[in-house]
Amino acid sequence: PAHAAGAAALDTLVRPAIRALSAYHVPDATGLIKLDAMENPYSLPEELREPWLSALREQALNRYPDPQASLLRTTLRATMGIPAGMGLVLGNGSDELIQMLALALGGPGRTLLSVEPGFVMYRMIATVAGLDYLGVPLRAEDFALDLDATLAAIEEHQPALTFLAYPNNPTGNLFAADSIARIIEASPGLVVVDEAYAPFTDHSFLSRLGDWPNLLVLRTVSKMGLAGLRLGYLAGPPEWIEEIDKTRLPYNINVLTQASAVFALRHAEVFDAQTRLIRAERERLAKALAAMDGMQVYPSEANFILLRLPDGTAGPVFMGLKAQGVLIKNLDGAHPRLRDCLRVTVGTADENQAFLEALAKAV
Ligand code: PMP
Repeated sequence: PAHAAGAAALDTLVRPAIRALSAYHVPDATGLIKLDAMENPYSLPEELREPWLSALREQALNRYPDPQASLLRTTLRATMGIPAGMGLVLGNGSDELIQMLALALGGPGRTLLSVEPGFVMYRMIATVAGLDYLGVPLRAEDFALDLDATLAAIEEHQPALTFLAYPNNPTGNLFAADSIARIIEASPGLVVVDEAYAPFTDHSFLSRLGDWPNLLVLRTVSKMGLAGLRLGYLAGPPEWIEEIDKTRLPYNINVLTQASAVFALRHAEVFDAQTRLIRAERERLAKALAAMDGMQVYPSEANFILLRLPDGTAGPVFMGLKAQGVLIKNLDGAHPRLRDCLRVTVGTADENQAFLEALAKAV
């Protein structure tokens, strides 16, 4: 037939790799205490709402946004301490930058390497962009890098792209900086240190940009309290950034995001204060969790905590929490290394208290 129809046509026309994928699923959190997605629980302070709306009121909605987002990039450079001489490209969330990297460096027979358990979008984007994906297992006991295995995989597969989340999601730990340095040095391709959780740790590779020609640092404003804006940024040697920028769709950062982000970054101290609260709550929450019977609490430098529960109880406990109005993330079954694991995002003191009380009833 001239037209495509039915399941047979789906199988012929849609690439097998896409047919085999499941769409990224976001659970409905309506009416629940939302501790599943590593968001900052605090909203924009009341006193900033009017000035923010005034900034938005000046924007022209009939015109395309500044394609280079020049003011925003200048503001980001100054606020986030991006080293002089480094290139900077913005994405609609850091997800889009991962996709841009994969499009720029991908192609048949090329490999994207990461470590597992890790951020699931690396694999998903590799698949969509047509790269082979290779996930090197982290050490089972503490989720540290298995340096020997990672170096061997790099040697064997010569990845065009390597992603290391620092701190790692969903485990919350920082990998050893000297191991990351070894990986950068051994890599024939680009190594992207993904610092999505930078607001919650004192460690970063940002100041080390330029130490290696193949190091890039990926960041986002999502976790600092601006997840709704969808804004990520990638910094690195300008010759690499220039090539990656060619895969960017024009106007990928919309007018409202550009204006809102410039406004927010001019009030960065507000988000720094919120971040400090979250870090303090993380310590309080970790301590309370560690005091619970049979609960293994993994150390975290991020705004979430990974937990391992007694054998076979993660699923029922997750459901028990949900029944009491608290949504966290069930990782049991997501990866062999995450058996019996749950991940909870650090919320406000009240939310964390509600979580702890619900958990005590659910276990
Ligand atoms: N990198 C890591 C390690 C993440 O955990 C996330 C979000 N969960 C992202 C990148 C994507 O963040 P965004 O697209 O909101 O910038």
